[in-house]
Amino acid sequence: MQPNHSISSLEKLSASQTVDYYFDNAAETMGLPDADRTILKRPRRELSVELPIKLDNGDWRLYHGYRVQHDNSRGPCKGGLRYHPSVNDDEVRALASLMTWKTALVDIPFGGAKGGISCEPQRMSQDEVQRLTRAFVGAIDELIGPKQDIPAPDVNTSAQTMAWIMDEYSSRHGYSPAVVTGKPLHLMGIEGRVDATGRGVSMLVQEACATYNIPIKGARVVIQGFGNVGGNAAELLHEAGAKIIAVGDAKGTVHDPNGLDISALMIHYAQKRTVAGFPGVASLEEDQLFTLPCDILIPAALGGVIDANVAEQIQTSLVVEAANAPVTAGADRILRERGIPTLPDILMNSGGVVVSYFEWTQNLTAFRWKADQVHRELQYTLEAAYRDVKITAEKHKTDLRTAAFIIAIDRVATAKRMRWLG
Ligand code: NAD
Repeated sequence: MQPNHSISSLEKLSASQTVDYYFDNAAETMGLPDADRTILKRPRRELSVELPIKLDNGDWRLYHGYRVQHDNSRGPCKGGLRYHPSVNDDEVRALASLMTWKTALVDIPFGGAKGGISCEPQRMSQDEVQRLTRAFVGAIDELIGPKQDIPAPDVNTSAQTMAWIMDEYSSRHGYSPAVVTGKPLHLMGIEGRVDATGRGVSMLVQEACATYNIPIKGARVVIQGFGNVGGNAAELLHEAGAKIIAVGDAKGTVHDPNGLDISALMIHYAQKRTVAGFPGVASLEEDQLFTLPCDILIPAALGGVIDANVAEQIQTSLVVEAANAPVTAGADRILRERGIPTLPDILMNSGGVVVSYFEWTQNLTAFRWKADQVHRELQYTLEAAYRDVKITAEKHKTDLRTAAFIIAIDRVATAKRMRWLG
């Protein structure tokens, strides 16, 4: 662990500096040679593109798109595509690096990548989003492909977005379903991909509950985000017997100390696109969500939401990073000092990319997997990763995030060395 960073300096790290800081902690703990550190941290390729799009009203607007390929030592680059106004080069670089460590940690044959377009799709028509997506494919199509780089959905992109990418790419390179994952079922998508990340969160939370002696039946859970990840995790944890006592999203927060009716909340969310206004329960101020007393706190929306200030006030037994990088580096240090385990994003939200791997193999072999096979293989893969992280943390007497990075870095460094040095 690097002791000479103050909490205030950790709080100032950018997204990519935060990932590098976690990398350096692991590199230090495992004694990784300096030369390896420099090579492994830097992305192998970064592309930034300008996308002029004709809007429905006839005006033109320029959007900025990014694709970062961080590493491909263990297989083709793999990573989602995010549409959000906050997308920038530093964030995409950080998320691409996290994908390298995530795919290595769960031991699937991919490297890491990420892409994004700075835009606000909620304010665009479906046709405008489609034109933007196709223009982006036109700008990056030489760099992606089933054996090069395989995008997937992320914030504000969906199976429909993946269908457009597959169609645009296939029109240029021939029929290529394996160029993206997270496709619709009718277009060579796989059963169980839609809820895979939330399902993985639920499986791993149950593993962690067994380790930390928290009975899942009746465990009080608080979740930020009720989209793909948060909503599915809530539903599956509720099914496992947990009590989801509060949920917050972009428009509001609902709270019931006796446990929310998750099935009814899902119907409400599907109709209103928010949990706000869910009848019969209390609403909370946004900043009260993270400080509610609970057993398991799951940020499943945005990065950086648990900062040092919030970390001081959290009253939970476990923090579960279902979103990417929801805990700042300063908060991570404070939670460690307070003895609150943080289950790291590269493990906890890896269910999506694991099932994406199954989808890719399905596409390459033109064979269809069944849902129960997907769930079984997912469980097997995540349990193995969780076990590796626990054993490595004990061996190096370190926290779970550093342990997860140590496993991943060791696998990528070994693959690189074997490919380069023979
Ligand atoms: P989503 O768009 O389906 O849902 C996002 C949720 O966050 C929505 O409920 C939204 O209302 C809420 N939200 C947005 N802004 C908010 C704010 N300011 N305050 C509170 N809530 C807010 O996205 P998702 O696919 O569920 O992804 C959530 C996170 O999980 C992201 O960090 C993403 O990178 C990560 N992730 C997603 C997947 C996946 O398979 N979808 C895989 C790995 C990681």
